[in-house]
Amino acid sequence: MPMHLRYHDALLSDEERLFKSSVREFAERHIAPIWEKIDEAGSIPVDLIKRMGSQGLFAIPVEEEKGGVGGTVTMAAIAVEEVAYADPSVAVAVYTLLNNGWPLLLSLYGGRGGFEWLVDEIARGDSFLGIASTESHGGSDVAAVRTVAEERDGMWDINGEKTYISGVIEVMEHLPKGGGWLLVARKGARNSSPSPRDLVLILTIGRHGRERAPGIEYSRLETIGRHGISTGILRFNNHREPVEHTLGGENSFKILLQGFNIARILVAAANIGSARWALDQALEWIKERTVFGRPLASRQSVAYTYAELLAELESSRLLVLQAARLADKIYVEKDPLFKPKDLNIPSAMAKLKAPRTALKVYEEVMKWHGALSYMKESKLHRGWLGVMSYNVGAEGAENIMRYIVARDTIGKEHIRP
Ligand SMILES: Cc1cc2nc3c(=O)[nH]c(=O)nc-3n(C[C@H](O)[C@H](O)[C@H](O)COP(=O)(O)OP(=O)(O)OC[C@H]3O[C@@H](n4cnc5c(N)ncnc54)[C@H](O)[C@@H]3O)c2cc1C
Repeated sequence: MPMHLRYHDALLSDEERLFKSSVREFAERHIAPIWEKIDEAGSIPVDLIKRMGSQGLFAIPVEEEKGGVGGTVTMAAIAVEEVAYADPSVAVAVYTLLNNGWPLLLSLYGGRGGFEWLVDEIARGDSFLGIASTESHGGSDVAAVRTVAEERDGMWDINGEKTYISGVIEVMEHLPKGGGWLLVARKGARNSSPSPRDLVLILTIGRHGRERAPGIEYSRLETIGRHGISTGILRFNNHREPVEHTLGGENSFKILLQGFNIARILVAAANIGSARWALDQALEWIKERTVFGRPLASRQSVAYTYAELLAELESSRLLVLQAARLADKIYVEKDPLFKPKDLNIPSAMAKLKAPRTALKVYEEVMKWHGALSYMKESKLHRGWLGVMSYNVGAEGAENIMRYIVARDTIGKEHIRP
């Protein structure tokens, strides 16, 4: 990389820079050569996931004694960005980010549940941990979930259906050990006025080794992009989990929101990595592609747009770094000056801006490639469709990000969702 483009590195510590170059080297070697194949095949090879585990790319911010790598949220964001640069369809990055964000939440609020075994399996690339919140009647209104968890004899009895859930096939079929999701359910029978206080967050194991959990049916949905990671439906029919699998007791909803905050930083990092790749493709292309006797890059309409996009991308990247640094203050350094809710605004701003910017980058870069970008042989559409998932709503829709920023600045009394 030319010296003048290494400005972002100046914001990182020596350790972070070293980590970044090791992830980049790994991703260039093991992910970049096969990312299109992954997108075509619709799954990430298990040996790649295992290799990523050996490289220390999962459970990065979780303390070592809790089964993790003992790093930081900033390091996880760096890893996700580099992985997304190597697989701009973002599938491998999504796998990576889920297996960093949700294990951190589990390790922070799993209490004495003793989930080190699961974090350890995730860190090795044997298991997966995602989030199962969305239901078909609307994902944005999390407090209105209809899946019910009833407590009986020390067990949750779970009934309901979740949709658009990432990792369904990886857990139920592919990974050596399986894994599960943090499931959002309503305690007791459904009542007419749902309240966040009724929600419960339950570690739900879909499969462990050969044992597929009774009471869970699953199916895969056909997505338009990021094919490498599965998206599907989970149906719970008297599925049982021990009450010790509850995260946060009465505070489950607040804890869930913390999980979203952490995940959104990493999602934003994935979008940055993918868009950086697209912009780098453009840099080559606009200098090479000659029309009317001159390269595209010699037109100000193209060159200045490139400059504008680069500036926007770097602004979004700074938002990611700001949010990741704050997350580290809260969750890794445990600095008493900062509280989990301080992360609401920075994390929502990063998630609001990065996917939008990435989409803008793809739109321009594809237009600069003309008809070629519309051909299957061009790789650009795979990245475009990947970042689109985060524009249509994955890990929180745009208006929900605007709502969070507005609510936490203007005030709850003025802003309703
Ligand atoms: C590829 C993919 C993977 C996913 N993986 C997971 C997963 O692993 N786990 C999981 O739980 N979910 C997952 N999701 C679902 C995702 O979290 C939801 O898409 C998201 O929460 C939005 O919910 P919805 O799609 O039902 O849209 P809705 O909630 O119906 O929203 C539709 C539109 O309305 C807007 N809107 C909503 N409320 C308001 C308001 N108050 N004011 C103004 N506008 C509003 C939104 O911005 C959005 O544009 C995934 C989605 C995708 C696309």
